[in-house]
Amino acid sequence: MNKEIAVVRGDGIGPEIVAEALKVLDRVADMFGHSFHYVEAWMGGCALDRFGDPLPEQELEKCLAADSVLLGAVGGPKWNGVPGHLRPEKGLLRLRSGLGVYSNNRPAKIWPQLADASPLKASIVEKGIDFIIVRELTGGIYFGEHRTEGDTAVDVLKYTEKEIERIGRIGFATAAKRRGRLCSVEKSNVLDSSRLWKKVMHRLAEEYPEVELSDLLVDNCAMQIVKDPSQFDVIVTENMFGDILSDEASMITGSIGMIPSSSLGDGSRGLYEPIHGSAPDIAGKDLANPIGTVLSAAMMLRYSFDLPSEADAVERAVGQLLDAGYRTADIMSPGMKQVGCRACGDLLAGFIRKD
Ligand code: NAD
Repeated sequence: MNKEIAVVRGDGIGPEIVAEALKVLDRVADMFGHSFHYVEAWMGGCALDRFGDPLPEQELEKCLAADSVLLGAVGGPKWNGVPGHLRPEKGLLRLRSGLGVYSNNRPAKIWPQLADASPLKASIVEKGIDFIIVRELTGGIYFGEHRTEGDTAVDVLKYTEKEIERIGRIGFATAAKRRGRLCSVEKSNVLDSSRLWKKVMHRLAEEYPEVELSDLLVDNCAMQIVKDPSQFDVIVTENMFGDILSDEASMITGSIGMIPSSSLGDGSRGLYEPIHGSAPDIAGKDLANPIGTVLSAAMMLRYSFDLPSEADAVERAVGQLLDAGYRTADIMSPGMKQVGCRACGDLLAGFIRKD
């Protein structure tokens, strides 16, 4: 398979972690007989320094022309003083809207080797935690009308059937590629928008007989995520509920450096990035954990390129690295072998196997 990947290294630790993800992708390409072609695109503080714009049009064009986009992270104290419209994060917002992504997908997975890092009790963690939250990204209360009149403030929560249907399809398709269970989270006992949400999800369910759909109220879901997260495979929910639940879910895994994400729209092209920022405090010191970025590349293989065996191989390599006792500084514990970012990438590439 031939694929073109736009590579946005970004700022801070971005270039370091992306370099390691590319090492792993190169190894996958060699081993499975694919060709991944990388196109460098500039975005964030580095683009501002170079072009005077955090996402120049020609850099966005490169991303739009590619089959998918792999991003490190952007931002840092160097650009704190720049005017709002030039901030590195503005480049990221423009990239997301330029790519037309409306779904943010974050896995919450506990690696058994790192179970101690979870704030949850061992008896809960032992049951296994491996689910994805599919969050609607461009609608709902964050994008409704906001106004304040005297002592009254109003924020409008609005969803159309079309908006619900397109995020619903991503939820069903994601569940179909995993363990086949989709939990739709809403507040249909109170909100009209949630009743519409539930109705659309059940209509879509008829088109995905291989996926088992369940419903959960958002307040109950927040409790279940800490009480028994092993029950979830894929959660699909609206923007604000997803914002809150995905932060809750990332906390229970214990390590920010390990968590990947994808943002998807229509079609197969996606934006893949770790959930953490540019970590300026450790940039350039070979201390960053590249695993969140490597796992983002694995998501790209699975969800944009439909290469599940290759994605499995990358995820297995992460498990083997941890089994062998290698840890970057952020996940280091007594008795383990500390490695830098580069050595971590080398080891991961070396652990890639075909079966
Ligand atoms: P951060 O995620 O960059 O760092 C928080 C803490 O986690 C730091 O101590 C950092 O060293 C550590 N950390 C993060 N990723 C790590 C990794 N891969 N390996 C080891 N340790 C890691 O959050 P912050 O410090 O609040 O933000 C720093 C900059 O990143 C800011 O400019 C912020 O705006 C930006 N940011 C960018 C994104 C993005 O590009 N998507 C997301 C969040 C923050």
